[in-house]
Amino acid sequence: MQIMKPRAGTSILIIYTGGTIGMVHDPVTGSLVPINFSHITDHVPELQKSGFSIKSVSFDPVRDSSNIDPAIWVKMAETIEENYHKYDGFVILHGTDTMAYSASALSFMLGNLQKPVIFTGSQLPIGLLRTDGRENLVTAIEFASEQENGKPLVPEVCIYFDSELTRGNRTTKFSAEHFDAFNSPNYPPLAVSGLHLKFNRDFIRYGDADKKLIVRKKFDTNVAILKIFPGMGRSLVQSIINTPGLKGLIIETFGSGNAPTYGWFIEDLRNFIMKGGIIFNVTQCHGGSVEMGLYETSRDLLAAGIVSGKDITSEASVTKLMFLLGNCSSRQEVTDCLGRSIAGEIS
Ligand code: ASP
Repeated sequence: MQIMKPRAGTSILIIYTGGTIGMVHDPVTGSLVPINFSHITDHVPELQKSGFSIKSVSFDPVRDSSNIDPAIWVKMAETIEENYHKYDGFVILHGTDTMAYSASALSFMLGNLQKPVIFTGSQLPIGLLRTDGRENLVTAIEFASEQENGKPLVPEVCIYFDSELTRGNRTTKFSAEHFDAFNSPNYPPLAVSGLHLKFNRDFIRYGDADKKLIVRKKFDTNVAILKIFPGMGRSLVQSIINTPGLKGLIIETFGSGNAPTYGWFIEDLRNFIMKGGIIFNVTQCHGGSVEMGLYETSRDLLAAGIVSGKDITSEASVTKLMFLLGNCSSRQEVTDCLGRSIAGEIS
């Protein structure tokens, strides 16, 4: 791990999309209301002393992240694209509930990214005394501003939360209660904050600095997730598979990619594939990897042409499938890209 001191003088754009972090008590009604982000430094006075040049834009309306969808991912990516050459880094304030989906989506959209895009938020509103939002915001800005020889130290889409900077498409929300709300089960943190900011340089992706940013904005939402469970019935499976227009199905399987060996189940999956559908096998486990063929209960899935999600998170699997269906020119291209890393999301 390499220890660095935050660098003053860099310019950061804060993009406020909504979520708990941007709330304060309305002095009249006492209710929690979103703050005006052009006055962010009134609420976080530490930022004035930081030496960073900070500007902010706020989406209108701001949203609880349950209401963030592909159209808003495109808006986030376009805001970065329009401001790419004006700022050294970007901090996206976002509700925690779907932050890992948005961070995954942006990691696929922003090809050849050479600047930090750091998502953060908080479990308690920034206007509350015990808020975790202030530390998350200030440290996310510090990470976004870190450079060496004029080059950003973490030119990736990341999530910063409670002392860890993790790759966005490797991260998952795992606590609705604790300040330590996220983790990256299958990939080490890119950096950690304590007394110092320490970087795990060997795990950070440094693309080709000569290549230009490419922003791909299409998503095809004709996908579904089927979480396998003991006792699952055929009519449920068929109602999902027969959804009009469905192109991609994620099956969330047991352990290392296993599922019941009912004859009807494999037959229905095979029929879906024969009609052109794509099936992606992702584990229900928090950590570890799909390994089809390891057990008898996944051999038929492998033989049917189901693509292994290996150690991908559920959030990255959904956004990746929608992204590939929206951007690839053939079914073969989708299946080839699904099974391998396109933005560091799979080992
Ligand atoms: N429901 C909120 C959201 O995701 C929770 C949060 O901000 O942490 O927008």
